[in-house]
Amino acid sequence: MCGRDPGEQKVRKSPYDRALRLRQRLWREGGAGVKVPDNAPVIGLPQALLTYTYYPLWQRFFNTLGFRVQLSGQTTDEIRELGPRMAGADFCFPAKLALGHVAKLAVTDGVDFVFVPHLKNTQANEETTGTAVCPYVQGTAACSRTALAMNHMDASRLLSPLVDMRMRERDIIKTLSDELARPLGCSPRDLRRAWRAGLQAQTAFEDRCQEEGAKILAEATAKNEKMILLVGRPYNNYDGGANLGLPRRSRTWAAPSCPWTLSSRTCRGWACATATPSGATVRRSWPCWSRPPTRNYWTSSI
Ligand code: SF4
Repeated sequence: MCGRDPGEQKVRKSPYDRALRLRQRLWREGGAGVKVPDNAPVIGLPQALLTYTYYPLWQRFFNTLGFRVQLSGQTTDEIRELGPRMAGADFCFPAKLALGHVAKLAVTDGVDFVFVPHLKNTQANEETTGTAVCPYVQGTAACSRTALAMNHMDASRLLSPLVDMRMRERDIIKTLSDELARPLGCSPRDLRRAWRAGLQAQTAFEDRCQEEGAKILAEATAKNEKMILLVGRPYNNYDGGANLGLPRRSRTWAAPSCPWTLSSRTCRGWACATATPSGATVRRSWPCWSRPPTRNYWTSSI
């Protein structure tokens, strides 16, 4: 017996996953809002690695330029099998999956271009001195091109501009123009307008995540409820095909989970952990300049 009432029509939603679902909804909607004709050319975005962070930016960017955006979707069994097969070397699992997503888009009818930026640095922020992206993530653009060629697939529709978000705007527009202006038929001025619109959408999305995260943590605090704080890369936290549903284990532990990306500003200043629900002891630590957390949050890192 599966335990499901035979008459039940609705998909059951666990309250413990609420924060995860909320973040993904904000992520999907963050860059929407610009109308694009149904017959506009399509840019494929591999739903892997930093797309789980920057989708709002790129969606708004391409929509502003008059293109539709199509994600490759969550990792499936097919992509889990395809990615490692495409890879010419033993990368980490998320990097291999990214190759599978690129390959899927490369053979999808109706996708005119596949966008795999070489993202070098994310924006400067007050929490870190360096914001360089992992070499595997940076290398995905080049590796995708090689992997497609090695597997006798068409790599000519790949668009891979260098994007260094610590550079001055005019340099960013220059690198975007070098790669995108000709194939997409747009001017540097169009690209600047789209870039600014994209950044605005990204900032609004990130602010909204923090607002909603703060509300969820405040609610839990008011109820004296324990939560599991999911510390992980967004492409591991939110891709059910990569994490095999691990974040949903919070349901089994009977504690709601909150992803780090929804709560990083609220929890800034301390790295927490007490004991896991299974009883394993984890080091409790927080920087000496901050007060110890007065609440209990369990952390789970994936
Ligand atoms: S940071 Fe991400 S892409 Fe880089 S090695 Fe780790 S899991 Fe792989």
